[in-house]
Amino acid sequence: MPGLAAGVKEGQFPLEEAIKDISWKELGDRQLCGSCVGRLAGHLGHGMSNKERGAILRPALELQEPERCWLCDGLVTEVDKFVALVLKSLEGWEWRSFLIGSRIAPDVAAREEELWTAVGSAHAEPLKTEINREVGKRIESLAGRPAEFEHPDVVALIDTAFDVVQLQVTSLFIYGRYRKLVRGIPQTKWPCRRCQGKGCEHCGGKGKMYESSVEEVIAKVVMEQSGGTGHALHGLGREDIDARMLGRGRPFIVEILNPRRRSIDLVKVEIAVNSSSTVEVSDLRFTNRKEVVALKDRTCDKTYRILIRLSSPIDEEKVKRGIASLLASPVAQRTPIRVSHRRADKVRERWIKGIEMTMLEGPLLELVIRAEAGSYVKELVHGDQGRTEPSLAGVLGIPCDVLELDVLEVHDGE
Ligand SMILES: [Zn+2]
Ligand SMILES: [Zn+2]
Repeated sequence: MPGLAAGVKEGQFPLEEAIKDISWKELGDRQLCGSCVGRLAGHLGHGMSNKERGAILRPALELQEPERCWLCDGLVTEVDKFVALVLKSLEGWEWRSFLIGSRIAPDVAAREEELWTAVGSAHAEPLKTEINREVGKRIESLAGRPAEFEHPDVVALIDTAFDVVQLQVTSLFIYGRYRKLVRGIPQTKWPCRRCQGKGCEHCGGKGKMYESSVEEVIAKVVMEQSGGTGHALHGLGREDIDARMLGRGRPFIVEILNPRRRSIDLVKVEIAVNSSSTVEVSDLRFTNRKEVVALKDRTCDKTYRILIRLSSPIDEEKVKRGIASLLASPVAQRTPIRVSHRRADKVRERWIKGIEMTMLEGPLLELVIRAEAGSYVKELVHGDQGRTEPSLAGVLGIPCDVLELDVLEVHDGE
């Protein structure tokens, strides 16, 4: 085999296959650098660089070494420059894994396409892949941190036409369970619909409809540590604003956008959040976007505590019989009036799986209800003007008012 480059092991590269399968004569007068020659056979021969492939192919095909490469015009020699640009863009960000992407200059990409059409692309590797890999390998060894395809902390996009790097910083995701100890705050930040957050008369200049939210209490602490630019809270469902979330709490994932720092002290986060009088968190751990999707897709039973005012005293045995009838068949619930402005109007059937009752002075009634995912329990009590059937008010024959609602358990199986 002629002209092996130093360090290339003979026999590693299937030269005959590379000569036979690629229409080299169609190269015409397009003169290519070593890497661009080798890349046409980039999927042949393992563990070698395209430059090394080119060094085997060029003498075998009697190709000249050009002054200028028709295809890349020197782009493959600019890896060091791209590495420096990427490292510069990463300054000031904490990252433990990365991924390199690139946008190849359009004129170069067009020539690559033309070349593939002419000589065939069965074994060819795209230039983009080579740039990504070569820059990635250099960053790995310089920074001592791995390239990561699934969930990189940062993605550096190299634009080879303008020599700029665009950095995409992956959000920081923290999973946990929250307890909402007070009524009257929503799960997520609720911007004012009239002013979209700018502040107006409607919202008293605050830009939002509620002073605080579960999201804001938790995110404030994480934002301080991470230096992020924004946040979101993804919950496994949500409770009403006027309901507390008690028991073991509700699973959530807080997302911090563009975090400068990622090594957050979760113990400190827990202590700081739990020193608030409104929200408590537990079970904190780091996670990723994939689990957000899984969390949003999950549904599970919930157990509620409901305090009800009965409009008139009623015999306990009659209440017991009424409750038994609520458990006997699924409850048909037409989309409640209170949410009908944002949800499609339809009737759905849900099972009520268990009810424990306690009669109190007043006359008040306390129920602990386990209900299938998606049940509207307030409507189960008052009947929603006949839109929920059967309902407690319906089976008792008297109006029933919900005074208090707490979620005692989200049965997520953990
Ligand atoms: Zn080239
Ligand atoms: Zn407003």
